[in-house]
This record gives sequence, C-alpha cells and structure tokens, in this order.
Amino acid sequence: MVGRYAAIACECCQCGNCCSHMQLVHTITEERGNYTFVVCNYYSGDVKEVRVDPDKIALYEDRSSIDHLPEACPFLRFDTKTGKAWCTVHLTRPDICRDYCCWRLLILDPHGRRAGRVLYRRTFISDSAALGRLWEELQPALNDLDDREWDAAFISVLTASGYRVRQ
Ligand code: SF4
Ligand code: SF4
Repeated sequence: MVGRYAAIACECCQCGNCCSHMQLVHTITEERGNYTFVVCNYYSGDVKEVRVDPDKIALYEDRSSIDHLPEACPFLRFDTKTGKAWCTVHLTRPDICRDYCCWRLLILDPHGRRAGRVLYRRTFISDSAALGRLWEELQPALNDLDDREWDAAFISVLTASGYRVRQ
C-alpha cells in the first residue's frame, strides 16, 4: 500500500485510501517497546511484528492526521503540509501491504490528476463524474471483447477523450 511499486504495473500517489480502512487487518495486539508492535490480522489470524521506521517516529507520534479516520490502519499518517500518506512501518510492513497494487491501469485527466483506475481484469473505479459518465456509455460496447481487445478499446476511447492511460 502507501509506497512505491516500481517493479509492477502500478504507481502509488500516496492518497492513503487503501490504508484508511485497515484497522481490523492490522490490529495491534501487543506493544513490545521501542516502537515495536505485534499486529494481528482479524480476518486471517496472521501475526506480524512491525516497527516504526526510525525516520518516521515523529510522524507516528502525531495521530491528529488520522483522527477523522476511525477505521484507519494504526500506522497510517498524513503529512499535513503535502497531504501525502505515509506508512510509518514501511520497512517492516506486513506482506499483504507489500503485495498490494491498487490498479493495473491508471487514468489521468488532461491536467494530470487521477481520474480513475482499473483493478484486476476489468474492475473500473472512477474518481471523476465526467469519467464515470463516459464509462457508462462505453461499458456495454466492451462486454464481448477478450482481455486484449478490452484494454485496446478502453485505452483508445479514453485517449481520444483527452485522458492519459498509464499501464
Ligand atoms: S490507494 Fe493506491 S495510490 Fe492510494 S495510497 Fe494506496 S496504493 Fe497508493
Ligand atoms: S501497515 Fe502501512 S501499508 Fe499496511 S495498511 Fe498500515 S499504513 Fe498501510
């Protein structure tokens, strides 16, 4: 989750969405001192020891940036100046976080802002009303295409409409 994923087809913009509802997945069950914690995944039972990164201790100590997110992972924090999300246990974060990729296609609007994402094969998530409307028009025409054709048609239509699609 929040971090950089250079080796796979997605890029994190540190919005923090993915970590904002992970409290039960990373429930702290034990504090071992020196910013070391045991977390338990409520759903899988997986247990993992994590430790706050040395350069993120001050950030971790200030919980104010997640006060409005009662379901947030206990290790998520936001930089109040940039608004960017940080995983304060990035170096020792659980495997589920290391493996996570929130999209395979990223759609940017003409201003370079994130407008939508495609997850897995064809799960589309719109971040803008305009792209949502375009998707509703486009989707029926894509249903019968195979995966390769689906990607090509999707990218072609969105590009022609002024979006950029990053793979
Ligand atoms: S939702 Fe995606 S872009 Fe946002 S922090 Fe998570 S991995 Fe990064
Ligand atoms: S451990 Fe880090 S990457 Fe995983 S959910 Fe929490 S803040 Fe996000």
